Amino acid sequence: MQNRYEKQIKLSEIGEAGQKKLNAASVAVVGVGGLGNVIASYLAPAGVGRIKLIDGDSVELSNLHRQILFSEKDIKENKAHAMHKKIKELNSTISVESFPIHLQKNNIDKILSNVDIVVDGTDNFKTRFLINNFCKQNNKTWVYGSIDQWHGECAVFRSRGPCLNCIFPNIEEGLFQNCNESGVLGPSVGMVAMFQAQLVLQEILFPEGNQSFLYLIDTKNFEVSKIKIKKNKNCLNGRTSLPEISYNTYLNWKKKDKNIILLDIREREQYEKDALEGAEHLSYRSLLQSPDALKNYDKDKTYVLYCEKHLKTPFAKGVLEENGFKNVFILDQGYDTLRHCEECSNVAIKAPLSLRGVEDDVAIL
Ligand SMILES: [Zn+2]
Repeated sequence: MQNRYEKQIKLSEIGEAGQKKLNAASVAVVGVGGLGNVIASYLAPAGVGRIKLIDGDSVELSNLHRQILFSEKDIKENKAHAMHKKIKELNSTISVESFPIHLQKNNIDKILSNVDIVVDGTDNFKTRFLINNFCKQNNKTWVYGSIDQWHGECAVFRSRGPCLNCIFPNIEEGLFQNCNESGVLGPSVGMVAMFQAQLVLQEILFPEGNQSFLYLIDTKNFEVSKIKIKKNKNCLNGRTSLPEISYNTYLNWKKKDKNIILLDIREREQYEKDALEGAEHLSYRSLLQSPDALKNYDKDKTYVLYCEKHLKTPFAKGVLEENGFKNVFILDQGYDTLRHCEECSNVAIKAPLSLRGVEDDVAIL
């Protein structure tokens, strides 16, 4: 008789023993939209023994281009329930539980306490931080994933390693748009979700991994950057020691010290369109892809970084420091906030006449 798992069992790293691990594992998929659809549709056929699906939303017509397991007849049905049926069809031997509710503080314990791994299929950072804190407190591994237009990212966070808060210590609600607002192509969502599904399976099969990486997936140019991430020593109490300064402080410093460089780390087209006065450009993406992007910068100068929303800067600061830059500061508000704050009359914003700094088209390794 054929074994449905024979092709994966054939892999020497998996074998019968690995398959047993998969069958014994339990995974919760939080959010069964574009990411969760693809994640669940790979975990179930692989034989992950117990799968929980959590989603309070219903299927809509505009979901179908990326939530590929749903069909027109599923419209208006709860996503967790609809997906429950789909993955039971993919593999009737596994156990599936569905929860037609949004994950919240008051239900997270009950839903996630008996699973081995949590995987993020959500579209918002509020839920991601809820998962992050729960997993940290309960020594669980979780797999983060997000997509914003063409830019995807994912990571595995283990109980003893860095967490989401270590990477985004200053994130605020509403800073990332979800794909309902900003637009996305179906396969871009799928690419991130496939990474997540693979990470979940590998985490079950090879749990000894202890290095943590953030994978940045440029789904348009087919570029993947793998960035080593570290624990932030100040993460536990929810505070960081990031030297943050206000834009006005930067202006005062600049008056006294011409060697201070304001660095815009947004994408080049954003910088070209509009930037803070006097800013040079070095994109976050090129910075993460290769430290070569820094070779034209003087390590002894002082740098002040800003991005759209004060999200990427803490991480970019870490990259500069790893590369020997000692005086790196970040603006306590992102460009978008400064740009829209009418009370900040001191903020002078104008389009730069010429581009300075290094080229950001760094070759991908
Ligand atoms: Zn942390």
